[in-house]
Amino acid sequence: MSPPDDVVDAAMGRALGLAAAAQEWGDTPIGAVVLGPDGAVLAEAANEREKRGDPTAHAEVLALRAAAGVHGDGWRLTGATLVVTLEPCTMCAGASVLARVERVVYGADDPKAGAAGSLWDVVRDRRLNHRPQVTGGVRAEESATLLRAFFRRKRGL
Ligand SMILES: [Zn+2]
Repeated sequence: MSPPDDVVDAAMGRALGLAAAAQEWGDTPIGAVVLGPDGAVLAEAANEREKRGDPTAHAEVLALRAAAGVHGDGWRLTGATLVVTLEPCTMCAGASVLARVERVVYGADDPKAGAAGSLWDVVRDRRLNHRPQVTGGVRAEESATLLRAFFRRKRGL
């Protein structure tokens, strides 16, 4: 069981809002929301790599950690859905496998570092014993627009 499309779409809206907020402290605009099996928001986070000076403080990792604290099944996020604005990197794809999330939904593809189908497919690697379902391209243009504008500003254009 995974939350219906409209609930996932609304969660992506929240994640996009978090992504926009990350720019305020100089982080790349990426946001993540973790939904429980019933569609309730368990946790959410923005990218805080620059803010914390922590290479692992990606939105997905922060949201998965916080979600595990409220999900009620120890570290396992059984039946949960990770909703994130950009295709997860190898670390975050790996974290979603380790957390046993049921589904990963992402916005824009990341051809330079994506590990949910673009460069690698860590989430659906048949050698792993848990493989979340993957849905990409949800509100992708909104996420891509945010990222493009951020990098354009960063380059001072
Ligand atoms: Zn990541």
